[in-house]
Amino acid sequence: PKYVFDFTEGNKDLKDLLGGKGANLAEMTNLGLPVPPGFTITTEACRHYLEHGAVPDGLDQEIDRYLGALERQMGKRLGQADDPLLVSVRSGAKFSMPGMMETVLNVGLNDESVHGLAERAGDERFAWDSYRRLIQMFGKTVLGIDGEHFEDALEDAKRAKGVDDDLDLDAADFKGLVQTFKGIVREHAGRDFPTDPREQMDLAVKAVFESWNAPRAILYRRQERIPADLGTAVNIVAMVFGNLGMDSGTGVAFTRDPASGHQGIYGDYLQNAQGEDVVAGIRNTVPLADLEQIDKRSYDELLQIMETLENHYRDLCDIEFTIERGKLWMLQTRVGKRTAAAAFRIACQLVEQGLIDEDEAVSRVTGDQLVQLMFPRFADDAKAEKIAQGMNASPGAAVGKAVFSSARAVELAERGEDVILIRRETNPDDLDGMIAARGILTSRGGKTSHAAVVARGMGKTCVCGAEELEVDVRAGKITAPGGVTISEGDVISIDGSSGAVYLGEVPVVDSPVVQYFEGTLPVEDGDELVGSVHRIMTHADTRRRLDVRANADTAADAARARRFGAKGIGLCRTEHMFLGDRRQLVEDLILAETEKERQAALDALKPLQKRDFAEIFEAMDGSPVTIRLIDPPLHEFLPDLTELSVKVATGDASDDECRLLDAVRRLHEENPMLGLRGVRLGVVIPGLFAMQVSAIAEAAAEQKAAGRDPRPEIMIPLVVAVQELELIRDQAEEVLREAGVDAPIGTMIELPRAALTAGQIAEAAEFFSFGTNDLTQTTWGFSRDDVEAAFFSRYLELGIFGVSPFETLDVDGVGRLVRVAAEEGRRTRPDLKLGICGEHGGDPDSVHFFHEAGLDYVSCSPFRVPVARLEAGRAAI
Ligand code: PEP
Ligand code: MG
Repeated sequence: PKYVFDFTEGNKDLKDLLGGKGANLAEMTNLGLPVPPGFTITTEACRHYLEHGAVPDGLDQEIDRYLGALERQMGKRLGQADDPLLVSVRSGAKFSMPGMMETVLNVGLNDESVHGLAERAGDERFAWDSYRRLIQMFGKTVLGIDGEHFEDALEDAKRAKGVDDDLDLDAADFKGLVQTFKGIVREHAGRDFPTDPREQMDLAVKAVFESWNAPRAILYRRQERIPADLGTAVNIVAMVFGNLGMDSGTGVAFTRDPASGHQGIYGDYLQNAQGEDVVAGIRNTVPLADLEQIDKRSYDELLQIMETLENHYRDLCDIEFTIERGKLWMLQTRVGKRTAAAAFRIACQLVEQGLIDEDEAVSRVTGDQLVQLMFPRFADDAKAEKIAQGMNASPGAAVGKAVFSSARAVELAERGEDVILIRRETNPDDLDGMIAARGILTSRGGKTSHAAVVARGMGKTCVCGAEELEVDVRAGKITAPGGVTISEGDVISIDGSSGAVYLGEVPVVDSPVVQYFEGTLPVEDGDELVGSVHRIMTHADTRRRLDVRANADTAADAARARRFGAKGIGLCRTEHMFLGDRRQLVEDLILAETEKERQAALDALKPLQKRDFAEIFEAMDGSPVTIRLIDPPLHEFLPDLTELSVKVATGDASDDECRLLDAVRRLHEENPMLGLRGVRLGVVIPGLFAMQVSAIAEAAAEQKAAGRDPRPEIMIPLVVAVQELELIRDQAEEVLREAGVDAPIGTMIELPRAALTAGQIAEAAEFFSFGTNDLTQTTWGFSRDDVEAAFFSRYLELGIFGVSPFETLDVDGVGRLVRVAAEEGRRTRPDLKLGICGEHGGDPDSVHFFHEAGLDYVSCSPFRVPVARLEAGRAAI
């Protein structure tokens, strides 16, 4: 295979092979934009290296050829003593992983070529600074030396000279630092810094390959659900310098505001600096708009390029650029990350501009983004003491205890505390603390700093660059203007939508998007965001094939689900109606020893059930309500065996309790989830299901008499054999007939045997609803109540699965059973209605699977209904 591509050979659709950065550099090159020449080594070469520990045969020769061509184009050789070609070696995977992997700049410098560079640039200081940067980056990245050794030496040099800023060091200082740094390399790597330019380059390429498996990269991929086996490409790019004086600089730009979506001039610029300085948030940048004053020609050209890119990609692009002595160079572009709100706004703005159609607008937003917009935010009229203003880097309202280190954040979060991670600036080592925290606050860095980019990616609230705050990480406190100090454990509130930082706990309110779904905020009164959500949801609804129902057991939930767009109830769990003060009645029923006792218990329960159902029918008038007959794990309704035994043994029990103990012993199960549940209970306790069906029928008849349109559906749980279903169905039909009420009778498919014998079961069922919670539990043999705590974190860590199968449907195993059951069920009964009511019904990926599997509807919790509607629309496009 071909392992190397010149930028002129690639294009933006080759991200799998060239990584995002390489593919887009190629695209820009071919658009005629000013990109420094270079080439990309493919992800395939990386995968080969990671698998075999060596680069593939022929790669070296291929690199020779491409490097030779680059040298001819530039008119100088890599590291040439009198006029060196210098290159950067940059990672670039298919999915952007900000700051996770490695980059080495200035490759090609050594004791000779540093003079050539000084001569050509006419700047001795610059050349030695570049050289020490190379040794520093190379030492850290390629040779694995702790970066602090270099940073300490730099600090020492500044201290010795009595200055604060790198800019105050001169050529002689950097010359000295080069010697010191070489000493550090020798001491900590046990070898000399390599002076052969090609050796530098080859080692840097391997280090980039290896950085794919750095712990922080692995953690980031798991968090973002990026597959672990993609590998990274490596870009070798001719160096251009933003640190050649005040007429040089480097910056980042967005074609639109990644927080609001609005068009305008957004970005940061840093004069006389090299690329990584901006992203690292090391020095404070100026707003991009200031570039107009600093260098109007480059500014105008940049604006032009931004327009070209946005029209070409038909989306928000982010850009990294460098200006070298008044000449603009594009170093990177990509379709930019954005907040959830911006995603909805931008999609609709692009439709308005005629760049995309409504189908594409729907496919450009996700259910996960919609979930983020449904988060609460701070109340407008909340009385709160604002202590600082930072940048609104990632929206949301977060309240928690202040912590100053990633480790503390993790520690407190594990104890169930809400924390806000406060740092001067974050770096990739803070990742696990950022994951653990409710929100992130930094005192330095702009909207493109590490903290901002990563937080937006995670959908986590972040305020960055709150410069008025003095963060003293070591002392564990921050000082705000006016002398307010905050120590670890003090509660603060941060508003990622406005950038405000408050002392203490600020009350939060519903999001406007939720108010819109609730119907309390009409579209015309809402802002642009509400309008965008409305437009996209409306279009998704016209496109989706799947119906969306809700899981609801109360009239209030049913009403909310309806407001959120549910077309019926897919699962009403009746056992929830038996908890609380009714538990005693159920206990009486289970423990009844005579026919009379049993009937008395049933008679007591029936009116309560009838009222429950009537209320739900009323709330869902005209739409189907699937009522599942009781499915209780018995232990939830009986006294605890151990407690009762102790009471009896210590003589504290009453006569009744002694008798109760016998019954509890008799009914005790080691595995209640595999025990006397669902249809089995209906089979062994005569009259229980019939009572429920009768309550349903009477409630429906009453509703009808009141002029309403109740649509009950009766669902039998945990069926594993068609014979069970026939027995219960016959009883239920008789009750319905007597009451003169019509209702379809169906079953849940939630055990592997039920799925595998679905052809038989469909003989006795008018509909199936997949109970993917139990189906996952029994297919994997994982107790749904225990395994997540017991060992899932380890399984996730080891990549045995990327996400819990209880969260996103396991397509290969459980999904296969769903397909088999759907197909064989429909073969028996072509008009068999198919739904799903496990937790997966509101999970975006799973909704796509159910669409493909040909189901008729998904049913999920009321709050997830809009997410399911949107994803069902996206699945159909
Ligand atoms: C299921 O098993 O997926 C289901 C919906 O039923 P429950 O969660 O009540 O067991
Ligand atoms: Mg179940």
